[in-house]
Amino acid sequence: MACSRYEYVKGYEQDDRILPNVWIVIRIDGKKFHKFANTHKFEKPNDENALHVMNVAGIGVMQEFRDIVLGYGQSDEYSFVFRKDTDAFKRRAAKLLTYVTSLFSTSYVMSWPKWMQQPLAYAPCFDGRIILYPSDENLRDYLSWRQADVHVNNLYNTAFWKLVLESGLSNQQAEQRLRGTLSADKNELLYQQFGINYNNMPAMYRKGTILLRKRVLQFGQDEQDKGRQAIVPLHEDLIGAEFWRKHPEILGKYVPGKQQLLDEKSLPKLLEQQLTDHMEEKARIS
Ligand code: ATP
Ligand code: ATP
Ligand code: MG
Ligand code: MG
Repeated sequence: MACSRYEYVKGYEQDDRILPNVWIVIRIDGKKFHKFANTHKFEKPNDENALHVMNVAGIGVMQEFRDIVLGYGQSDEYSFVFRKDTDAFKRRAAKLLTYVTSLFSTSYVMSWPKWMQQPLAYAPCFDGRIILYPSDENLRDYLSWRQADVHVNNLYNTAFWKLVLESGLSNQQAEQRLRGTLSADKNELLYQQFGINYNNMPAMYRKGTILLRKRVLQFGQDEQDKGRQAIVPLHEDLIGAEFWRKHPEILGKYVPGKQQLLDEKSLPKLLEQQLTDHMEEKARIS
């Protein structure tokens, strides 16, 4: 912009660059998704396709922002972890937060019709926040906190909706029945009353979705092959040490990890799409 006497107003902008050498976590969460889920007739307690829409939007964000080393999604939220030394947008907080939040929202809307039967009744929106963690331990604890949250909520919701939809209890009666129960009680109730072993429920519902950048080798490709880079969805426990041993690239000096796929049948749908998608790389924001 040419110099003008108005230009001084630019000086009012604040420097919001994030301090160096910290994990940058951005978490987005759907606004009033309880109502959004009802309006769009989501299956209770878990609408699988609605979770796919979230995961596709999460993959879209990670395809654009190469410095995100891990995504974690559950319910109507997604967390994105940027590598500690990222220089994306000169680490300017507002830029990072608004780009991620708006790209997630637009990707969500764009992928909606591919997974959902019913059209969107209104524009969904997401809030976003940035949280900084100085140590690896803090970061692991953050992710463990989110995964523990999905465990607690999903176990409760699974029991609640079984009582309502199959035992004919009112919402209030179901709530009363579950009040004060521990995890073990709810597991027992599901098993005794409905013949359900909670641990056999789909892992995506129990563990959420972890997105990692991997070099994917398919059956028949040997170790020397470069494979294709993709964002791999996993539904594993990330609280225990095993996950971090299996995926050392996350906390280490970041290079995409390696994922060996056994055969075509083991390909999760969201990964299959990426591997068969030969579209030119999209124009990047940065
Ligand atoms: P806020 O605006 O404060 O975030 P909210 O209604 O979005 O309010 P959350 O705590 O974020 O509250 O909860 C999200 C709610 O969205 C869940 O409790 C559930 O009712 C619904 N929901 C989100 N995803 C799904 C899904 N895949 N299947 C079924 N219900 C879902
Ligand atoms: P940044 O990512 O830094 O914002 P940018 O390319 O978006 O980069 P801006 O300074 O925001 O840069 O400028 C927006 C540009 O978009 C304009 O210079 C113009 O080229 C184009 N543009 C925006 N709106 C219109 C429009 N209605 N008609 C034609 N061109 C437009
Ligand atoms: Mg919400
Ligand atoms: Mg939420």
